Amino acid sequence: MNRMSMINAFDPTRSDALDPTTRSLIERRLRVLGPAYRLFYEEPLHLVRGEGVWLYDANGAAYLDAYNNVASLGHAQPDVVRAISEQSATLVTHTRYLHEGILRLAERLLATMPAEMGHVMLTCTGSEANDLAYRLARTVTGNRGVIVTNLAYHGVTQAVAEFSPSLGAGVPIGNHVRVIPPPDAYHSDGDVATQFAQSVTAAAADLSAAGHGLAMFIVDSIFSSDGVYADPPGFLAPAVAAARAAGGIYVADEVQPGFGRTGAAMWGFERHGLIPDLVTMGKPMGNGYPVAALVAQPRHLEKFGRDARYFNTFGGNPVAAAAANAVLDVIEREHLIRHAAEVGAYLLKGLSELADRHPRIGDVRGAGLFVGAELVQDRASREPDRDLATQVVNGLRQRRILLSASGPGGNILKIRPPLAFQRPHADTLLSALDEVLTLG
Ligand code: PMP
Repeated sequence: MNRMSMINAFDPTRSDALDPTTRSLIERRLRVLGPAYRLFYEEPLHLVRGEGVWLYDANGAAYLDAYNNVASLGHAQPDVVRAISEQSATLVTHTRYLHEGILRLAERLLATMPAEMGHVMLTCTGSEANDLAYRLARTVTGNRGVIVTNLAYHGVTQAVAEFSPSLGAGVPIGNHVRVIPPPDAYHSDGDVATQFAQSVTAAAADLSAAGHGLAMFIVDSIFSSDGVYADPPGFLAPAVAAARAAGGIYVADEVQPGFGRTGAAMWGFERHGLIPDLVTMGKPMGNGYPVAALVAQPRHLEKFGRDARYFNTFGGNPVAAAAANAVLDVIEREHLIRHAAEVGAYLLKGLSELADRHPRIGDVRGAGLFVGAELVQDRASREPDRDLATQVVNGLRQRRILLSASGPGGNILKIRPPLAFQRPHADTLLSALDEVLTLG
C-alpha cells in the first residue's frame, strides 16, 4: 500500500466510534488478512455494488465516485461485463494456443501508439509489467541503475518495490536507484523542464560513478503519486533525452494516465511528444478485469526473445483479451477521450472558480479527468495543509463523494473519476467541496 493511500487511512485505534457491523468487518479483516493492509477513511466504507459513476454501500446509499480509475469507463459497464461473461462461457485458456482475441487486442493497442512501438506482452498487473520492463532494460543496456521521482509508485514485486519510494521509509529503495524531485511547477521558480533534465543527468552520473550505470528512467506520465503534474506539455522531453544520453532507456508508466483519461490522447506520454522505449499499462485496461501489458520497440526485445522465453499463465488469456477489447470498443464508440477533455476542462474551471473564493486552494491542475487541487496553509508560503486535506477527504466521504489526496505533504486532492463522469456530477462535487472548505 503506498503512502498516498495512507494519508487518509483508517486509524484502528479509533474504531470505537464505529457502528457494530463495520467494527466487526474490520476486526475479521485484520484477523484474516493480517496487518499489511490499509483501509481508506476515518469511517471505512463497505461497498457492495457499482454502476456508472455510483458506488452503493450495504445500506443502499449511493456514493459519487470521483476517485477510481480501474473501472475507468464506469462501474459494471455492460459491454465489458457481457464480453467477460461470454468469453468465460466459451473458452478460457492461455497464450500458448492461437487465439484471435489476443492478436486483435495487440494490433489495436499498437494502432494507438507511435509506429516505433511494435510488440505487446501481456501481464496481469501493472507491477508485473514494470518488473518485465526492468528485466528488459537491464538486458538491453547491460546496466542496473534506475531513476524515478521522489514519490513514484510502480508496484509490488521485490524489484519494483525497490524503485517505488512512495512505499515509504519502511521499504528502502535499492542502492542502484536514484530519486529525483518531480517537475513541480507550483513550488519551483525556474523552468521545470530544464530542472528535471538536469536532475536526470546528475542522477545518471551518480549511478555511473557507483558502477551501476543507467538501465532505465521510468516515469508515470501524469506523476499521480507525486502530486499530479501535467503542464507545460512537453516538459518531460528534455529529461528523456538526458536519460538516453546517459545510456538508459525510457519507460512510460501509463498505468494511471493511460486509456484516454488525460483527454488529449490515449496515452500520457503523447502530451510530451515522446516515443518511449517501453510502455507499461494496467488498471483501466480491463475496466476491473485484471489485465495489463508492456509495449516495446521491437529492437528492445531481440536479445531477450533469443535468450529467454515468456509465459504468463493468466496474462492475456482470452477473457482478459475480451475485456480489454471491449474497453477499447467503448472508448472509441463513446468518444471518451474527447469527453474526458471536455468534462475535465469543466471541472478544472469550476475548481479555479472555487479557488477564487477559497485561498487555501493554492493550485489546481491536471489533464482531462486527472485533476489535482493543492491545499495550502496560505498562498504566500504555499505550505502544504495535510490536516485540511484529511478533513476535506473525510468531509466529502460524509457527503457521499469519494476522492483522495497525494503528494509529499498529503495535501493534493486527487480527482480521477470513471470516465462516465458528466458535468452535473462535477457540479455535485464542486458544491460539496465548497461546503466542506467553507466549514473547514
Ligand atoms: N504504476 C503506477 C503508476 C501505479 O499507480 C500502479 C498501481 N497503483 C502500478 C504501477 C502497479 O499496478 P498494479 O497494482 O496493477 O500492480
